[in-house]
Amino acid sequence: MPNIHIMDERLSNKIAAGEVVERPSSVVKELVENAIDAKSTSIQVDLVEAGLMKIQVTDNGVGMDREDALLAFSRHATSKLLSEHDLFRIRSLGFRGEALASIAAVSKVFMQTSTGEEQGTIVRIEGGKLLETADGPLRKGTIFRVEQLFYNTPARLKYVKTIQTELGHSIDLMNRLALSHPDVAFTLTHNEQTLLQTTGRGNLQQVASSVYGVAAAKQMVPFHSSNEDFEVSGLTSQPTVNRASKNYISLFINGRWVRHFGIIRAIEEAYHTFLPIGRFPITLLSIKTDPILTDVNVHPSKHQVRLSKEKELELLITKTLRDIVRGEQEIPKVVIPK
Ligand code: ADP
Ligand code: MG
Repeated sequence: MPNIHIMDERLSNKIAAGEVVERPSSVVKELVENAIDAKSTSIQVDLVEAGLMKIQVTDNGVGMDREDALLAFSRHATSKLLSEHDLFRIRSLGFRGEALASIAAVSKVFMQTSTGEEQGTIVRIEGGKLLETADGPLRKGTIFRVEQLFYNTPARLKYVKTIQTELGHSIDLMNRLALSHPDVAFTLTHNEQTLLQTTGRGNLQQVASSVYGVAAAKQMVPFHSSNEDFEVSGLTSQPTVNRASKNYISLFINGRWVRHFGIIRAIEEAYHTFLPIGRFPITLLSIKTDPILTDVNVHPSKHQVRLSKEKELELLITKTLRDIVRGEQEIPKVVIPK
């Protein structure tokens, strides 16, 4: 008898969940990113007790047929990545194919989905165990409900912070998702109270005013420039509008929110001598580039990215923002539509 055996899938999913599902906002992130990848134009997130009791994401995306609805919960099951070739050309937010398996391993899941072309499907899973598959309505899109997160992993539950802290993480996340997808209408509610609502009409200033307030958004200047490899665009505040934290600088690469020390430094460099020490601009910077120049497969959260031609990009950013800071560029009047 050998000592080594392959562990069963439910156990390995529960272990993997430790990495993917850290807290309620990690579930919100995975579910909303799936909804975005499914080409939804309207996404509603409803939380109860910061998501510890309930997280429900309702989208109007492409939905799944019966077979996919069940496959979606297997580890490494994805419709987004077929070969090694694709790994270097990722355009979707997801690709690891482990989120749904991980979430279902540590909660009670209800999913209703339909492509809108055939009978819909309802799936119930508890702690990774399939309880029920049934016919569902024809409504195109997916409703995904996660209840009693971490009910079977008491150690993880203990690690969860206060309702206010956990809710804060989900609000930050939803703000970032809304800012990076102005063409999607987002709604976030908590205990039935609406916390964020965007129109999905594709206007970045409008989303910025929902997130930062109308006064700040009015003081932000649009920019756009490019070189051979990168296109950068977004909004940045004039030096008179500044904050005591770098958290108001948001970076998006091909629609994905990322942290990147070098790019933040390039932005700070543009404001150098125009802002007091310890003060930072409000900046939304969206970078578009060929995915071949990026590597987001650094960590399961995909918040870190490695870039080729990083120095060229940073120079482009510093130069573009410097023009605004110095007032060399005529400042277009920002009109925030109602
Ligand atoms: P990944 O996003 O990395 O592919 P997930 O475990 O998050 O892995 O999802 C598995 C698969 O389930 C996705 O590739 C997609 O085909 C399908 N899926 C998940 N959520 C949705 C949704 N809201 N609408 C349509 N399809 C979805
Ligand atoms: Mg996913």
